[in-house]
Amino acid sequence: KMTALSSQQRRPSVKATPFTFEQIGGQERAKQELVEALDFLVRHEQIAKLGIRPLKGILLAGPPGTGKTLLAKAAAQYTDSIYLAASGSEFVEMYVGVGAGRVRDLFKEARTKANKTGKSSAVIFIDEIEVIGGKRDGGQQREYDQTLNQLLTEMDGIHANESPRILLIAATNRKEMLDSALLRPGRFDRHIHVELPDKKGRLHILNIHANNKPIAEDVDLERIATESYGFSGAQLESVMNEAAIYALREEQDKIAESHLTMAIDKVMMGEKTDREASR
Ligand code: ATP
Repeated sequence: KMTALSSQQRRPSVKATPFTFEQIGGQERAKQELVEALDFLVRHEQIAKLGIRPLKGILLAGPPGTGKTLLAKAAAQYTDSIYLAASGSEFVEMYVGVGAGRVRDLFKEARTKANKTGKSSAVIFIDEIEVIGGKRDGGQQREYDQTLNQLLTEMDGIHANESPRILLIAATNRKEMLDSALLRPGRFDRHIHVELPDKKGRLHILNIHANNKPIAEDVDLERIATESYGFSGAQLESVMNEAAIYALREEQDKIAESHLTMAIDKVMMGEKTDREASR
């Protein structure tokens, strides 16, 4: 067994950016479901008294760039928790036990940090959970089964009335790939779907990202929202950014509708070349 390397462990990335639900465009249903789940969490004393199974894990499922990370950050802000983030791929290591050690450290760090800052709860966000929580295929032992087992152990160790309370939020765009052990009651038993935004959502997202940019008065963002059908929040953010770059190139001090139209094409093309390159 090779555990010697564990002393050189890379710490999972830690970010502490305050972020609120108002800064997330569209996703009304996901936001509402998440807030309901968080309100449930806040009533931990009553929950413990009534013997209700505490909420330990929330799974955010949906396509890339739809705001899952933003939702997790907003959840931390809403519950006045500290926020720790990691990605499933950070736990994949050649050496047996290193990934499991990192999972253990992540939970330990959440508790330590919450105590240090006087917060009564911590949100741990794990993106790309399918990387460590993928279906285990019978006989073949994978080197990171231990990692998943450690995660399950940590989840089983979460209690409603402990201090600090821990809430685990995971994100995936491959929900069907997840091992059923992760989805059992008492694990990630609350699923929230985060879909691509509809037109109203796209307009909302465009407006959020237009907020810090000079937009010409005659720009019709509603038309841009119509034309960007199928775009994710991340792509809409790119559209706004690319449009500003087109404006700069033309030495304009405001973003015109033509810049936005070109930006839509550029983002759409970019996606295509990405897809072709990955073939
Ligand atoms: P992935 O599955 O690829 O990790 P994700 O769903 O976690 O993606 P985010 O990281 O939350 O997506 O979003 C990426 C960026 O796209 C955000 O930082 C933000 O600029 C923009 N964005 C995505 N969704 C929204 C939204 N609903 N409202 C505003 N901005 C958004």
